[in-house]
Order: sequence, then structure tokens, then C-alpha cells
Amino acid sequence: MISRLLVAAALCVSVAAFAAEPFDLVIANGRVMDPESGLDAVRNVGIRNGRIAAVANVPLEGHELIDARGLIVSPGFINLHWHGREPRSDYYEAMDGVTSTFELEIGVADVDRWYDERAGRMPINYGVAIGHAPVRMAVMGDPGDFLPAGDAARKAASDAELAEIERRVEHGLRRGAVGVGFGLAYTPAASRWEILQMFRLAASYGASAFVHIRGASSAGSSDREEGLLEVIALSAVSGAPVHVAHINSSGQKSTGRMLAIIEEARGRGVDVTTECYPYTAGATRIESFLFDSWTDKPAEEYEKLQWAATGERLTPESFLSYSKQGGLVLIHANTEDVIRTAVGSPLTLIASDGFDVHPRNGHPRSAGTYSRVLGRYVREQGVLTLMTALRKMTLMPAQRLEARVPQMRRKGRISIGADADIVVFDADRIIDRATYEEPAEYSDGMRDVLVGGRFVVRDGQVVHGATPGEPIRAVIREQ
Ligand SMILES: [Zn+2]
Repeated sequence: MISRLLVAAALCVSVAAFAAEPFDLVIANGRVMDPESGLDAVRNVGIRNGRIAAVANVPLEGHELIDARGLIVSPGFINLHWHGREPRSDYYEAMDGVTSTFELEIGVADVDRWYDERAGRMPINYGVAIGHAPVRMAVMGDPGDFLPAGDAARKAASDAELAEIERRVEHGLRRGAVGVGFGLAYTPAASRWEILQMFRLAASYGASAFVHIRGASSAGSSDREEGLLEVIALSAVSGAPVHVAHINSSGQKSTGRMLAIIEEARGRGVDVTTECYPYTAGATRIESFLFDSWTDKPAEEYEKLQWAATGERLTPESFLSYSKQGGLVLIHANTEDVIRTAVGSPLTLIASDGFDVHPRNGHPRSAGTYSRVLGRYVREQGVLTLMTALRKMTLMPAQRLEARVPQMRRKGRISIGADADIVVFDADRIIDRATYEEPAEYSDGMRDVLVGGRFVVRDGQVVHGATPGEPIRAVIREQ
């Protein structure tokens, strides 16, 4: 009761303090949901200078006012797993409610260049990790685009090469990389010692490791728990927090066991977190190392593969010819039960693992992840509550980054002083529309999406040319 009175008093003060001057924008009459405070009530939100300046149960005056009656007003979604390179693709994310997006799992070799290329061009906020795999590719002269295709996958590093990989990863951290990325499944020749050295570097800069774990190859035959146990050990030894990418696709039918392992490790003080995306198919490059072991598979294993460009299911013969050509392959390897387990677990945050969106050649997760969770798993199936889902999309990812990236303490919340990254959506209507065959379809149900108080989506339409996205970066130390 006392705390409620204090909150009420604070509200009056904050409203009174701003009463003289109208807000830049007021979002009126919406059902405001804030996973941090638990607030779930009709409120008016006042925005000034890109920040939330009032959350009030009395009318607010604004230069501009939008009515959110009957709609949810939530913090914008924070996507810790995105690989897109074209700012254009981020409008699909925005239509799915994402206001901040991060390339953390693979990361990049040159942090400064990545941020420079995006300055002033991005509809939503953006951040990146220094990536062990791309640095290894650069040091070892690997010809692959994005993922290793040569020596970075298949050769142990010499002492000199390892020293150079360490130097470049540390440089990335000094230049404000959000974390350190690891595609361990794609760099199988990297020794445990090499990876441990990277974890130690991450720890010494207060950064987390973001990992596509080893051992969980698409061949379906490996010991899936092995890769998870490896990164938990690396985290325990080094002290670097670790975030495990897409537990649904790395875990497949071991997902439940792996979530139990994560819970036990957390209970013993290891800072390990994970994420999932709500689709039964995965996607990767057919020429990547994941398929190196595919020699004598039964035909039904090939039928689980779908060539993204044509939609056809593969045979041993077409698999061989497409492997030489290279390109995107969808892997229909999971069940609905696994997805419900992953989405419903209190341990997972939601992240899309999306990439650039093109018609008839992609994965629907790029455009539809968040709306699919809210429409299919919250509204239609009741696997989790709306507040729990929003927590997984906003507060949990913000908290994952905020120890290293102070900016994230102002994101993922609807509270006074938070950045005005806000989504206004219809909980009765929101749903994904992208499919495996037509991945370039906007989600339905987002009415307004604000980034720093500016519209990127308005009245259900993309505001083309809107580029309010800001870099999200750790503190930069000297060169
Ligand atoms: Zn991955």
C-alpha cells in the first residue's frame, strides 16, 4: 500500500512538472504493459526529446496525440539475433515490432566499419559483436562470404595466427563491440584453448559470449548436449556470461533436456541464457560445414531439406548439385512440441535469427518471429501470457546487454526516462504473414512503431525513408 501511494505521488509530481509545456507526442488511452514494473493498465504516455517523460492516468497535452484505445502499448522489441545487411530489411523487422536489432551470433571482423556503414541510414537501432568466426576468416584467408568455407572451418590456428585472432578480437572490444560472437558449429577446427582465450578476452571487457554451439550439426546424429556443456564450462572457467543462440534448432529433440541443463547451471551461478524462434524449420547455407558429414544419409533426411529459391524438397542427387552451387537451404527438422517447449520456457528470450528479406528466397522468421509468438502462441494456443511474451521480447534482451552497454538500461521499459522505443499493436489481430514459400510478407497488427519517439510504422504502414535508428555500442576505449 505504501509503495502504491508513493507511485501515485510520484506520478502527480511528474505530471505537474510537465504540465506547463505540451509533450512532443502523447500516446493516449492505450493499455500500457511494462514487464519491469508489472504495469498493465490504461495510461497516457507523454514523449519529449525522444524519451518517455510521463506515464499518467490523467489526460496529457501534446503537440501531437495518437489514440491507442483498445491497443497494447509496449516497449519496442529487442532482437539479439539478426544477420541482415540491407537497411531495407529492417522495415520488415519494424513491422514485426522490432526497434533495436543486433548481429551478435556471428558478428563482424571490423566493428568501426560496420557502424560507419550504417550511420544515418537505419530505421531501427543497431549493434554488433566482434566475431570470432569472421576474424578467424580474415586471419586465415578464408574465401567464405559470411560463414567460413575454407581454412577458417577446417584448419587449426598456428601460434602466430592465434595471437593475431586475439589481437583483432580485443581491438573490436576496445572499439565498443556489444559482445563477442562465436559460430562454433562453423569453425570446428578451432581448439578448445583458442575458444577459451576468446572467452577470457570477453570476460576481461565485461562482455558476453554469443554462441552457435558446436556439435549440434544438421546431420541430426551428433550429441546435442555436448556443445552446450562445452560453453557452460567455458563460461564457468573464464567468467564470461554466455548466451546460447536458437536453442530450438541447436537442441531439436534435446531442447527440453538442454533447457534443464541451463536452469541447473544458472542455479549454480553460471550466467547462461538462451533464445528461440517460433518455427519448426531452420535455415543455413548448404555449402557450410554443417553438411560436410552428409554422405550416407537415408533419403528421408534429404526430404527434410527445402531449397529456398524454388521451394523444392531435396533428394541425394539434387543435394549434391546444389551443394556445388551454394545457397540457402531450409531444414524441416523440428516438431511443434519442441517449439511450444522452447517458446513457453521461462528461460528463453525471443530472437529471430533473421537475415535480408527477399521474395521467394528466405525464411519467414526474418519478418514474422514476434507477431507469430504473439498471435499463434499467446492468443491462439495460450502457451504463455501476453506479459510473459513481452518480457521475453523487451526486458530480458535489454538486461542481457546492459552490464556492458549502459544504453540498454533505458530500453525494454515503459518508464519515465526510458527511450521512446514503443510499439502500439492490436493483440486480437497480430499475426505473422510470411511463409517458407513467401518470406517477404509484412506481419499484420502493428499499428505504430516509434524509435526514439519517431514513427517508423504509422497506421499500419511503413514510413519509408524514416531513419531514426541509432548505434548501440559499448563504451569505446582508445584505439
Ligand atoms: Zn546460428
